[in-house]
Amino acid sequence: MNKKQRTMLVRIVATALLTGLLLLLPTEGWLRLAAYLAVYLIIGYDILWKALRGILHGRPFDENFLMAIASVGAFALAVYSHSGDYLEAVAVMLFYQVGEFFQSYAVGKSRRNISELMDIRPDYANIERDGQVVRVDPDEVSVGSTIVVRPGEKVPIDGIVLEGHTSLNTSALTGESLPRDVHEGDEIVSGSINLTGVVKVRTTKAFGESTVSKILELMEDSSTHKSKSEDFIARFARVYTPVVCIAALLLATIPPLVSMLTMGLSPLWSVWIYRALTFLVISCPCALVISIPLSFFAGIGGASRRGILIKGANMVETLAKVKHVVFDKTGTLTLGVFEVNTIHDPNDHDHDDQAQRQRLIELAALAESASSHPISKSLQKAYGRPIDHTRVSDIQEMSGHGVTALVDGHRVAAGNDKLMSQMGIEACHCHTPGTLIHMAVDGRYIGHIVMGDIEKPNARQAVEQLHEVGVRRTVMLTGDSHEVAQRVAANLGIDQVYAQLLPADKVHRLEQLLDDKQKGESLAFVGDGINDAPVLSRADLGIAMGSMGSDAAIEAADVVLMDDDPSKIALAIRLARRCMTIVWQNIIMTLSVKLACLLLGALGIANMWIAIFADVGIMIIAVLNAMRALRVSSR
Ligand code: ADP
Ligand code: MG
Repeated sequence: MNKKQRTMLVRIVATALLTGLLLLLPTEGWLRLAAYLAVYLIIGYDILWKALRGILHGRPFDENFLMAIASVGAFALAVYSHSGDYLEAVAVMLFYQVGEFFQSYAVGKSRRNISELMDIRPDYANIERDGQVVRVDPDEVSVGSTIVVRPGEKVPIDGIVLEGHTSLNTSALTGESLPRDVHEGDEIVSGSINLTGVVKVRTTKAFGESTVSKILELMEDSSTHKSKSEDFIARFARVYTPVVCIAALLLATIPPLVSMLTMGLSPLWSVWIYRALTFLVISCPCALVISIPLSFFAGIGGASRRGILIKGANMVETLAKVKHVVFDKTGTLTLGVFEVNTIHDPNDHDHDDQAQRQRLIELAALAESASSHPISKSLQKAYGRPIDHTRVSDIQEMSGHGVTALVDGHRVAAGNDKLMSQMGIEACHCHTPGTLIHMAVDGRYIGHIVMGDIEKPNARQAVEQLHEVGVRRTVMLTGDSHEVAQRVAANLGIDQVYAQLLPADKVHRLEQLLDDKQKGESLAFVGDGINDAPVLSRADLGIAMGSMGSDAAIEAADVVLMDDDPSKIALAIRLARRCMTIVWQNIIMTLSVKLACLLLGALGIANMWIAIFADVGIMIIAVLNAMRALRVSSR
């Protein structure tokens, strides 16, 4: 609870006690009025002030105005009719403030939940300087420095373990509760907590580019993207409040005037004014205005606790309507960690020439040394030795094709069929299943490397779960060969496959798929951003792999899966749908209760106490309901 909330609580308790006291003590006349007015001011002075300021600024129609008019009116009426019943006026303010207090507490709580996530922000990094470990601001650590992370500390910057081993708690990032073991040479992600051992880490990114900074940026931005329902409510409130005020004014004046003019009765002003005031209290729109953004906020917070970052309330709406899911293959459904299966050399089929094989791998690794494609990384690994960058120059990467480079003065090409035919080189066919990297030196074909990728362990389950949550169609787009694509799709149960696509073809295909869907359905594209960032931003909803994915992907995407687990997609859809259900429950419940009470109020059946329930009671129920979106079950 913050200071403002504490003062509010004191005011509420004081008002409740003083009102109780006044109910017990018999007071009369002016003294009674003065006593109630004093209590009224204690609880309501800020509302009156805000209402006044609204009027002075020419924007009178808000909740403060409604509450001020209703309570001041109730006072005036009690004075006018000599009833001495000032309790209702105080009660209107008191309960309104209780509602406000409650709401600010709830918002604070969900914000705290998100900031628990924000708590991943590291405050310092330990660097070694002249044999001494010193604490510095993580912003000051340059790429390639060595930092020391001790048990219990947050990993401040992304890097690679140089020395030592430990287990990491990555739950704040991925929602995964099992600790992850890392050893020398493993990547280590900022934002995770070091549990057991001291490790030395060579940083691979600056603090601002590290995972932790990226996540925090995303979370901070996400609250600024308003959803359609939120927009609707804001516009609704702008029209609604003046309409309600006019309706109340008419309710207070027309019936008495009509009865006076048509039937010659003396007008019952106080009865109708009282009804109009109840009408105002009932119709206060705060339950909607508050609970809807809060539901989205809580929904986004809940998802982030499971390692799903949703970049805005509008994306929750889109996510809930996903009926088509299009996947990229490499790095999305597969691990993107290729193993070299075989190496063929066209001239030398019969004997197993180890030296020739090693030469192919070496040339490939050198030519690919600047690429960030998973194939390239896997080739580097298969080569197993450090790259001598002085041997390579003039590297050109053609997305969806491969690379060419000058290695030791020779023009080396490494890539698929398309690259070879583009360069007018005839490639040898291969019967071994897998992704082929054809190699040519100075325009002469020298053989190919056959690589195999591994499907992600829960990719199959991910596709199944998507069908379970009502996704109508799953599609895979890939730049890889037809054979590999067909095999992966069949293994995973994907409905449709399109293979041998260049990045531009992927966009084209996606546009056709977008045309194909029905109204009210949305299409999600899931990728790692390597050769597919344009597709990510073109889809209704782009979902990126967070840890494997490129920065471009994380930027272009609307949803980021922190742990690259495709089965989180179905979970994200379920969470989004639940959040939307809660939003609609609140809208329908609030409007129907208010409408019923308004009718009763106009008929004179509902009094001020019912009005207070229709306003504050409903708001509290709606806020409690909204908070459910924060809770996440395991399924
Ligand atoms: P995917 O759609 O499966 O993610 P990409 O569009 O990234 O695949 O790449 C498509 C194909 O282009 C690869 O299967 C490979 O044959 C070729 N390719 C792309 N980049 C490279 C590279 N750096 N080295 C070799 N081949 C590459
Ligand atoms: Mg890819």
